[in-house]
Amino acid sequence: VALQKRDDVDIEGGWPVGKPVPYAALSKAFSLIEATTKRLEKNAILTSFLLLVIQRSAKSDHASLLQAVYLCINRLCPDYVGIELGIGESLLIKAIAESTGRSLSVIKADLKKEGDLGLVAMNSKNSQKTLFKPKPLTIPFVFSHLKEIALSSGHSSQAKKVSIITKLLAACQGVEAKYIVRSLEGKLRIGNAERSVLVALSQAAVLAERERSNKKWSQDQLAARLEESANIMKSVYSELPTYDLVIPALLEVGIDGLRQKCKLTPGVPLKPMLAKPTKAIGEVLDRFENKRFTCEYKYDGERAQVHLLEDGSVKVFSRNSEDMSKKYPDLVDQLPKCIKETTKSFVFDAEAVAIDRTTGKLMPFQELSRRKRKDVKVEDITVQVSLFAFDLLYLNGEPLLQLPLYRRRELLREHFVVVPGEFGFAKSSDSETTEEIQSFLEESVKDGCEGLMVKMLDTDASFYEPSRRSVNWLKLKKDYLAGVGDSLDLVVVGGYYGKGKRTNVYGAFLLACYDSDSEEYQTICKIGTGFSEEVLQTHYNTLKPLETTKPRGDIKVGGAKPDIWFEPKIVWEVLTADLSLSPIYTAAQGLVEDRGISLRFPRYLRIRDDKSADDATGPEQAKMYERQALAQPKGKKKKGGD
Ligand code: ATP
Repeated sequence: VALQKRDDVDIEGGWPVGKPVPYAALSKAFSLIEATTKRLEKNAILTSFLLLVIQRSAKSDHASLLQAVYLCINRLCPDYVGIELGIGESLLIKAIAESTGRSLSVIKADLKKEGDLGLVAMNSKNSQKTLFKPKPLTIPFVFSHLKEIALSSGHSSQAKKVSIITKLLAACQGVEAKYIVRSLEGKLRIGNAERSVLVALSQAAVLAERERSNKKWSQDQLAARLEESANIMKSVYSELPTYDLVIPALLEVGIDGLRQKCKLTPGVPLKPMLAKPTKAIGEVLDRFENKRFTCEYKYDGERAQVHLLEDGSVKVFSRNSEDMSKKYPDLVDQLPKCIKETTKSFVFDAEAVAIDRTTGKLMPFQELSRRKRKDVKVEDITVQVSLFAFDLLYLNGEPLLQLPLYRRRELLREHFVVVPGEFGFAKSSDSETTEEIQSFLEESVKDGCEGLMVKMLDTDASFYEPSRRSVNWLKLKKDYLAGVGDSLDLVVVGGYYGKGKRTNVYGAFLLACYDSDSEEYQTICKIGTGFSEEVLQTHYNTLKPLETTKPRGDIKVGGAKPDIWFEPKIVWEVLTADLSLSPIYTAAQGLVEDRGISLRFPRYLRIRDDKSADDATGPEQAKMYERQALAQPKGKKKKGGD
C-alpha cells in the first residue's frame, strides 16, 4: 500500500530550515500516533514527521534526525553504550510538584485516578496559570537534558535529576509534558515499536529523495520503492545496530548506498540469532528433511559475542548487547592464545561456560551466576570460564553473515586454536538418523549441557540471521523431551505481601509476557513457589524501588489483583508444567480464543539479567506450549493457573 503523506503533522507555522526541530512537532506526532490503532496510519504520521525533519535540516546536520529518531524509540544512544532512562515514580512526582506548585498528595491522588503519570503531568501543567509563555522546547534541548539526567550518578544525583526535570517541565506547553514524563519513565506507550521507526525512517528518506529530484513515480512504483527501502533499512540495521552510524550514512549516500556503507563492524554488537523450540527429534527431521544439518551441544552458560577490533582491543557482548568486557577480564586475557597470527579482526558467537579446570567438567549456569557482574578483578575470580565458539560472523575485514554455516564453521576452525579449559569449538555431530541424534543428545546431557542446537548447514537458508528467531536453528532441550515442560522468561509486574514468616517481603508475584506488536505486558500467572527465604529477600530489595501505586498503562491487567504493582523491568525464568486457559489473565487473549492463557504449576528458576523486559517471552511463543495442553486426553479436567 502506498503511503499517504499526512499534512496535519506539521505544527502551526512550521519551523524554519536550519533551525532546531521544536519539541512541539515531535509531541504532536506522538499524540497523533497514540490516537490511532491503525498501523498504516501510525506509519504515515511518523514518516511524514521524519520527512519534515530531513527537509528542514541543514545539509550537514545529521544530529536533528538522529536525535528525533532516538526520542521516537526512547533511547539516548546505542544499546551497548548502556545509558538508560527509567526514572522512578517518586522522583517524577516530586519534579511535577515542584514545577507546578501542586502538592505531592494531590498528584498522587490524580495518579491513582488516571494511572498515567504523563497525563497527570500534562493536566497539572495545563491547569496552571502562567504569566509568561516559556521559551519553546527544542529537540536538541530535550535530548541533551534527558542525557544529562541519565548520566548523573552519585549521592547528590537525585536532587540534580529533580532539578533538571523541573526545568524541563516548566518549559512544557500543550501535550509536551505528557511525553517528557513518559520518556523519563522509560516507555512512550504510543504503540510504536522500533521496527516501525526503522520502516518510517527508510520511507522518509525515499520521499525526501523523490521530492528533491522531482522524480515522477506511479503509485505502484512508489509502493515498490518504499517496500524495497524498508527491507534495505531493516537488513542494514540488523547488521549494524547503531543509528549513530546508520543515520549519517543514510543522509550522505541515500538508501541505495546504505548496504555498501554500513556493514557489520567489530565493536558494534549485532543482535544474536535465536532458535525455535522443538519438542521431538521427529520434528527436527521433518523440518530438515533432505537438507544437511548439524547438531551442536547446547551449552548451559551465557551467550558471549566476542569482537577483536582492528586496534587489537577485545570486547565481549551479552545476548542483550551489553558490554561484558569488565565482567569477563579473564576471557579477554585468555583470548590472544586462541587466535592464530593471521587473524587480525573478528566477531564470533559463543557460549561462556563455567568449568572446573582440574577435571575439565562443565558446570551448570548456577555456578557461572556466582561470578560478580561488575568490576571483576582477574585475581579474585574463583569460577573459571571457558568459551565454546559456534559461529564466525566477521573475519579480517569481511562480514561472513551471508556465507553458509558449513563455510563459517570451517573458517572458525581454521583461524582459532583450541586451548583446553579456556577455548573450544562447540562439539558437533552431523548425524542424521533419530538414533544418532538421540544418542548425541544423551551424550550432551551427560557432559553437562542442556541438550542440542540443530542447525541448517549448507543451503541458502543457513546464513546468519541477526535478531531473528529462525526455523533454521532449532533447540532440542532435554526438558522438552522429558515432558517436564519448558521455561519461559517473564516480567515481574506485581507483588503479593507475604504471610506468616514472610510478612516483611513479597510472598508471591504476578508475572507477564511481553507482546512486542502491541507493546504491552500481558499477565500470565501468579507464582509463589520455588523461592528460598534468602531469594525472597533479594527479590524484595530489587523490586521495592520499582513499586508503583497503579499498574503502568502498558500492563494489560485482566482480573489479577496483586497488592502492589512494579515497573516492568525484572525478568525471571520460570518453569511450567503446562498451560491452561484462564478467565483471569490476558496473555495471548484472542490468539487461542477469547480467554487468556495461564501457566500451570509455575516454578521460579532464576533471574534473567541478560534479558530486558522487552526480550521476555511473547504471547505467540507462550502459546506454542498450548499444543501440549491440547494434546491432553479428552475429558481430563484442567485446573486454572491461579
Ligand atoms: P530464547 O530467547 O531463544 O529463549 P535464551 O537466551 O532463553 O533464548 P535458549 O532458548 O535456552 O536461550 O537457547 C538459545 C541459547 O542457547 C543461545 O542464546 C545461547 O546462549 C545458548 N547456546 C548454547 N550452545 C549453543 C550453540 N551451540 N549454538 C547456539 N546457541 C547456543
